[in-house]
This record gives sequence, structure tokens and C-alpha cells, in this order.
Amino acid sequence: MEHLNHLPVPALHRLERLPEGFTDTPVEKIGSILLGPSLIWIEGEPGPPLFVSILLHGNETTGFDATQRLLKAYDAPRRPLPRPLLLFVGNVAAAGLGLRTLDGQADYNRIWHDERYPEHRLAQEVLAEIAKASPLAAIDLHNNTGKNPHYGCVNRLDDATLSLARRFSKTIVWFTEPHEVISIALSQICPSVTLECGVSGNAAGTSHVERYLQNCLELSAEELFTPPPNHLSDLFHTTAKIVVRDRLRLEFGVCGNEADLCLRKDLETLNFERVPEGAELGSYRGNAPPLVVIDNDECDVTNRYLRFSEERIFTRLPIVPSMFTRDVRVIMQDCLGYIMEPYEVKGTV
Ligand SMILES: [Zn+2]
Repeated sequence: MEHLNHLPVPALHRLERLPEGFTDTPVEKIGSILLGPSLIWIEGEPGPPLFVSILLHGNETTGFDATQRLLKAYDAPRRPLPRPLLLFVGNVAAAGLGLRTLDGQADYNRIWHDERYPEHRLAQEVLAEIAKASPLAAIDLHNNTGKNPHYGCVNRLDDATLSLARRFSKTIVWFTEPHEVISIALSQICPSVTLECGVSGNAAGTSHVERYLQNCLELSAEELFTPPPNHLSDLFHTTAKIVVRDRLRLEFGVCGNEADLCLRKDLETLNFERVPEGAELGSYRGNAPPLVVIDNDECDVTNRYLRFSEERIFTRLPIVPSMFTRDVRVIMQDCLGYIMEPYEVKGTV
């Protein structure tokens, strides 16, 4: 990935207190309160803090909305929280415009490993501060653009991590790629989860996240990290991602003559469903297959999962997809979606 015309990377702002107006400012105006990516310490009863990150993707606002409501309910910062909160507000500039990332920026959830982009320095600085604070647990809040259940993602399969995810949802996804995400870096420091909270702006999603964060502030560490009784989960392992070849014109449903790739209209409804072998995903024009499947070792495994026949696309194996979306900008910036397989952990969550 190259970044010609790279935007200057804003410096990290460290705040020792929640700024006035934070809980009342709409997300598109957040730039009037925060001057850029900000790490905010919010006072609580003595003990290790909870780390929460929001708006790593600027158009994923449920974490922001839920945090605002939570802090308001506790009357922060006038009264201490049940435990301190170390809050990272990531891509403030993109949030102001309602975009995942701005053109010329690295994706703020792909900068937590390596040193290629200028944004990696920001990430290293944030990680150093978090490590210094020795948090009890870390929670990174996201939304999907497609139709998905609420689910928690883990990068390790220990009891503490799985319990943290299970408290949010019965549906849990274990992934190791992309490895540049913040939750993997944080999993070296403390139990760490990524929560996928449905689509942005959904009121039920906001309430769910607010209740979850409240539990994380109020429960003892032992309660938080002990798998609840009757804790059967649907655990999936992400094995590959599906990307669309560069510069193709992509449409959904009934497609015009201009479309190079035409995917089925109801693609999003397949998320977390068991899709059988031979299911048709769409059609395309031309000779080169329009979709590429890449496994966790960066190998092209397209032919293992997909079959292309007479300009139509079929599954070659039964698959469980996630994050299928119809948002073409997100598809081209990131991917069409992921392929998962059911996974069993014996004797834990
Ligand atoms: Zn995201």
C-alpha cells in the first residue's frame, strides 16, 4: 500500500482530565473539543484503569455515543468513576467528516505493528502510554457497515479474554489477521477484545455497549475474567479474507452495463450464516476472476473457496462469511468480507 500525498500525522494529545463539553458534543463537531488523536485519563476509584478506544474508524460512532452516555451518567469528571478510564479517541479528523479514514491517511486500525507509515509513530506513542498505565482490560469499539450480529473478537483463547468477549455476545470471532490491529498489540499487555457493535447510530447498539462498559467499570476483575455459567458460545475462526481486484466497477443486485462485477443484492444477509457449497455470489465480465481470497499466511487461496464458471461466481466449499458489506468505498479501502470456520475450545467459554 502506498501513500502518495500523505497527510501530515497529527501529534498525540494527552489529556489529564475529560475536557468540558465532551459528553454534549456531536461526533461531527468533536474536532472543536479535541485537536487530534487524544488519550484521555478520566479519574476513578484507585486501581488499574480500563482502556477503551473509539473512532479508530471515523464513521463508526457507536463507541463514541455509548462513552458519552456512560460518562454523563456517572457525572464524569466531577465524580470519580468506579475505576479509572483511559480513553483513546482515534481518528478525530475522519470522524469530523463521517469517514472511515481520510484519503492520504493510513487506516487507524492497521498501524499497531510495523513502522512503515508516519502513523506508526503515533501508535507506538499510544502503546507506550497504555503499557505504562497497566490497564485491567482493553476494549476497542467498532461498527460494521454490513448486516452482522453484535459480536466480540479475540486474538487469544485464554479464559480472561474469552470471558471479556462473552460478556458482550455469545458470538465470538477469533482472528490473527489483520495482525496490525490495536487489539493484537494490546493483547500483549492485558486481556483485550474488539467489539463489533452492529451498524453505527443504532440506539439499541448504543445501549448495549453502554451497559457493557458499565459492567467493565463496576465488576471485580475476578467476575470480569471468569467465564459465566452456561457460557456456550458460537466461536468462529477467521481463515481468509475476500478482496475485490483493483479498479473494477462493482455493483449489487440488478447491475448496469458498466459493472465489471455484480454481486447478489442480499450478500449481507449471509453474514454468520452457513453458506453451502455451490451458492452463487454474483457474476462478472471478462476473463480474470474479480475476487481474490487471501489466507492468514497471505497466500492466494481463491481456488480453494470459489469457483468461476461462465462469468458467474460460486462457493466451492461450505463457508461462514462475516462483514460482507455493500459499502463500495469500504470494500475498496479494506475488503469485501471474511471467511470463517466454526471453532471449538474445550473446557472454556
Ligand atoms: Zn472499524
